[in-house]
Amino acid sequence: MNIRWSQKGPCPDRFDWTSWTGDRRDGPMKLLLLDVRRNGPRILPAKLTPIDEATIKLTQRIADFVRPPNQLGFLGPGKFLIAQPANTTCDEILALTCKLESEIAKPIETADGPAHFACEIAPVQDPAPLNTYASLQRRAELALMCSLWERSNPACLGDAAPCAQDSKDMRALNDMKDALETGQFTIHYQPIINARTQGVDVYEALVRWRSPHAGMIAPAQFIPLAERSGLINDLGDWVLNQACRDIAGLDATTKIAVNVSRIQLCEDDIVSRIETALTKSGLAPHRLVVEITETSIAQLTPDALEKIHAVRNMGVAIAIDDFGSGYSSLAFFSSLPADWLKFDHALIANARRSERGRAIVRAFAALAREIGVVTVAEGVKSQEDVAMLGKIGVDYLQGFFFGTPAEAELAFGAKRLALVANRRSC
Ligand code: C2E
Ligand code: MG
Ligand code: MG
Repeated sequence: MNIRWSQKGPCPDRFDWTSWTGDRRDGPMKLLLLDVRRNGPRILPAKLTPIDEATIKLTQRIADFVRPPNQLGFLGPGKFLIAQPANTTCDEILALTCKLESEIAKPIETADGPAHFACEIAPVQDPAPLNTYASLQRRAELALMCSLWERSNPACLGDAAPCAQDSKDMRALNDMKDALETGQFTIHYQPIINARTQGVDVYEALVRWRSPHAGMIAPAQFIPLAERSGLINDLGDWVLNQACRDIAGLDATTKIAVNVSRIQLCEDDIVSRIETALTKSGLAPHRLVVEITETSIAQLTPDALEKIHAVRNMGVAIAIDDFGSGYSSLAFFSSLPADWLKFDHALIANARRSERGRAIVRAFAALAREIGVVTVAEGVKSQEDVAMLGKIGVDYLQGFFFGTPAEAELAFGAKRLALVANRRSC
């Protein structure tokens, strides 16, 4: 196919709807949105430069790949639309996306050395009745945002609309991207106390969004959208790097626990990203704990589980977060390479309420001890909780009783003061 070149290079900023000659006699076309980005440092979203040699060659490669009866359209820099006839089967669509992904992943030789690209592919509903560029682009972007599209569930192909309806989400996502680029995210640190020594051995990094419009926003309000949109990869990278840097300055026995989303574990390079964060900050691997929630673990693919093993082999500890909030199962202990088990607030609340609840925590704690897994109680509220959990033999305690999450200066300030006081009393 011929590429139309605009002043901006091979990616004109308007999609030429009139040249779209899709055959809709058999029903709506199967549309795929292709979003290409250059691989590179992922602290900020990588952008595709519109005109350079690599981008031109990549565009030509994509154009050569998409053959009739399929058609290729340009939506904007790095954004393409592929239309397939209505009778294309799900298997054919999946085959095309797999081949296209590996085609795009092949390095592109340029005068400055090889350039690498990656892509996201999402289904878009054929907007034939709407027939306007603006509606197509909006729908395409919404569909891309909902890139949680499960390839294993081709039934949702061509039906991106349910998740694409919410333009509020779209605005929130754009705000979140801006927030990441302009440094509106911050990390609060909550102490995790050694039950035996009462010292702060670990801090958990908890992300916050300091929005100029809405004030401080809690993670529960933006993590789900960040996960659905894939932005969690860049956000998670930022948290990981920042937290490692912040903690590296404290004494060498203090550890940092960082929450890692299931979506991040699906990224091919998650292991090297963790390695990079450690190298750049100079933090020893044994000072990092990666927290993965119990519900995420239950949904992990074998590939993601392998990555957890690889992270653990680097010397990083793995914690099962919110244990007891989902499908608590003893099978975890045999299949998962976990070093820490964090009892969820709900489990601790039950232990507070009844002997039966205490018996359950006691049983899990005993089992964990038996196999060398460290236990942490979340949501510790009072001195009574501390006494109860001490009797049970939980290793670490976390909760508002010991400290609410606070900015680095405030959280570590207490730690620094305690260290100075300790040194004086020695
Ligand atoms: P989590 O990892 O289980 O973190 C503990 C949550 O419990 C934090 O909420 C903390 O503020 C809260 N908490 C601690 N002690 C108490 C207590 O005594 N009582 C009560 N009621 N709450 C307590 P937060 O900061 O709102 O975070 C909520 C969840 O958001 C986290 O749960 C974690 O799953 C997720 N999250 C936070 N930061 C990140 C991040 O950087 N990446 C990812 N993927 N998830 C994150
Ligand atoms: Mg956590
Ligand atoms: Mg938790």
